[in-house]
Amino acid sequence: MIVSYQKPIEFVNKCGCIVDYDELEKAILWYSEKPVTRLKTIYMHGRYPAVSIHEEKLHVHRLLMMYWENRILPREEQVHHKDENKLNALRENLEVIYEGEHQSLHNKGRKFTDEHRKKIGIANKKRKGLKMKKQHNIPVEELRTHLQSGKSINWIAKHYSVDWSTIKNRINENPELLEGESNV
Ligand SMILES: [Zn+2]
Repeated sequence: MIVSYQKPIEFVNKCGCIVDYDELEKAILWYSEKPVTRLKTIYMHGRYPAVSIHEEKLHVHRLLMMYWENRILPREEQVHHKDENKLNALRENLEVIYEGEHQSLHNKGRKFTDEHRKKIGIANKKRKGLKMKKQHNIPVEELRTHLQSGKSINWIAKHYSVDWSTIKNRINENPELLEGESNV
């Protein structure tokens, strides 16, 4: 597929997708039959990061795999995330797997612990949060003390005169604060 007059693509990654932008650009140009807009947003579509190509929404991991395999993947060929992080679209994390096998892999698998999943969730939130967040220097040790003494996030936010999400982000940046905590 030939693209003429294509300008380099810039990406706005709105969902913390882990991706090689050069590869994604090549995949978009490979897929598209005409030049695409210079600015592309990566956004959540369902449970996975996606990009739009001429009104069509494509999941980033599937688009990349189609490009790497140089073919359009039929529905029954699914793309599995080896580390179970749906935002991680790096090549080494993805593999093509048939629908039936895929389901049983996830059913019997439980290859990863809940702890592992929690850490992935926290790391993803952290990447997303970093772009827009202002820095407030609330000492982690103080935060831990407040959390351990049962203070609510609202209480802590008021205490430091910041908003609720600032405290929540601070906790997300320091996953060890969650250990042994059930009310955050
Ligand atoms: Zn999978």
